[in-house]
Amino acid sequence: MLHKTGIPTIEQVKDQFPEQSKLSKPKAIIECYEDIPCNPCETSCPFQAIIIGPDINQQPKVDFDKCTGCTICVTSCPGLAIIVAEVHHPHAIIKIPYEFLPRPQKGEVWHAVNRSGEIVGDANILQTLVSRRQDRTLLVSIQIDSSLVYEVITIRRKHA
Ligand code: SF4
Ligand code: SF4
Repeated sequence: MLHKTGIPTIEQVKDQFPEQSKLSKPKAIIECYEDIPCNPCETSCPFQAIIIGPDINQQPKVDFDKCTGCTICVTSCPGLAIIVAEVHHPHAIIKIPYEFLPRPQKGEVWHAVNRSGEIVGDANILQTLVSRRQDRTLLVSIQIDSSLVYEVITIRRKHA
């Protein structure tokens, strides 16, 4: 499915997540499924929590025991392929890179959108931060239903 449509299956997405118990703290989730010569995620992480290794074409892996959820890698990735997720039932908090206009504002409620572009629920905008390294990439913290943590990848503005 991934190679035909560019959309990973839910099993492929879950493979990128740590076990549930580790999601009580924020963890980087990397969805970088191609062997490409790229490594800003690895070099930007101050905790050496992302491993690509000597072959730059290898896909990155997260050492979830080292990852603090600091989000530096999220805005360092040119492919917008990294989010940070944590779960506190009944909610999950996801930090996503966002580069569209208009920008979401704290306190707004936007649509939560899955990897197929479908609306799957509400996303409460908790915080927006402009990266010091990459000012076109907004880091948006959203609160969603925890049952959607493997589904939601971005947000879409609700029509007024
Ligand atoms: S969130 Fe921070 S600690 Fe975790 S992998 Fe990314 S840069 Fe490293
Ligand atoms: S920086 Fe992004 S696109 Fe490049 S290897 Fe890391 S996750 Fe993949």
